[in-house]
Amino acid sequence: ATVAQRAEWNGTGATADGHRVKVYGNVGSPADALAAADAGAEGVGLFRTEFCYLDAADEPSVADQRAAYTAVLAPFRGKPVIVRTLDAGADKPLAFLSPEAEPNPALGVRGLRVAFDRPEVLDRQLEAIAGAAEDSGAEVSVMAPMVATVEEAAWFASRVRAAGIARAGVMIEIPAAALSAREILEAVDFVSVGTNDLAQYTFAADRQLGAVAKLNDPWQPGLLRLLKLIGEAAKATGKPAGVCGEAAADPRLALVLAGLGLTSLSMNAPAIRAVGATLATATLAECEALAEATLATSDPAAARAAARG
Ligand code: PEP
Ligand code: MG
Repeated sequence: ATVAQRAEWNGTGATADGHRVKVYGNVGSPADALAAADAGAEGVGLFRTEFCYLDAADEPSVADQRAAYTAVLAPFRGKPVIVRTLDAGADKPLAFLSPEAEPNPALGVRGLRVAFDRPEVLDRQLEAIAGAAEDSGAEVSVMAPMVATVEEAAWFASRVRAAGIARAGVMIEIPAAALSAREILEAVDFVSVGTNDLAQYTFAADRQLGAVAKLNDPWQPGLLRLLKLIGEAAKATGKPAGVCGEAAADPRLALVLAGLGLTSLSMNAPAIRAVGATLATATLAECEALAEATLATSDPAAARAAARG
């Protein structure tokens, strides 16, 4: 298998022998959505809704949210789109949601945790998302950021279903959730791994801090071993487990992720074609062999070398 940076891609994510690994776009605005659709994304694996409100002083109304989400979903009529509920806090504080001061914002009340005290904000967002699904004709699923336990996942799924949205999933961004991937998958319809945060919390290394960037390398074998558990959980439950962090945008790592059992990869538009084209260069058995080889290494450089096959 060779990395096919320039190769053409037929628009259907699959290994050379036809094992499907869907290639999706990460979006946060209508412009991102158009760019992802233009690049051939099969759908959206992560719509970061908080990006719509980074400058908002007050909670947007349901009608405003519905219109904003519809504008992003419009290019994906009839296609799968995963809308993430507001991931406020830490690197993305929202004025109307985030606590004023916390000693460790990355470990504080962020992501889904905000909704435990203020479920009405979540319910209003879910109402807007259900409306946007209707208006756009996209096949909408909803997922929660920063989920730590099975109980949180089940609680979120029950709110999503009460809002009349068919499919509920959660992100795996916390090591405890990765270790409980199977039990979490039993409580929801799908999971998606946020490798940016999963790396940050696994290595106790701030994702915004250059001084510890080496630890946040997605080729770290310690991270790949957690991804293996998630791939195994997907196989055991027959439910989808995607990756929507930066790791999914590396074509060579995409082969490893396919080999680990991950079922979709979601990334920013510029990476879509290269990842789609590269997946088609290796069979599933070759991807599995690359995954096994990378897991047998002890550092990122050796993992990268092993994945060159
Ligand atoms: C992640 O953490 O990998 C992720 C996709 O979410 P975000 O980058 O928005 O935190
Ligand atoms: Mg994250």
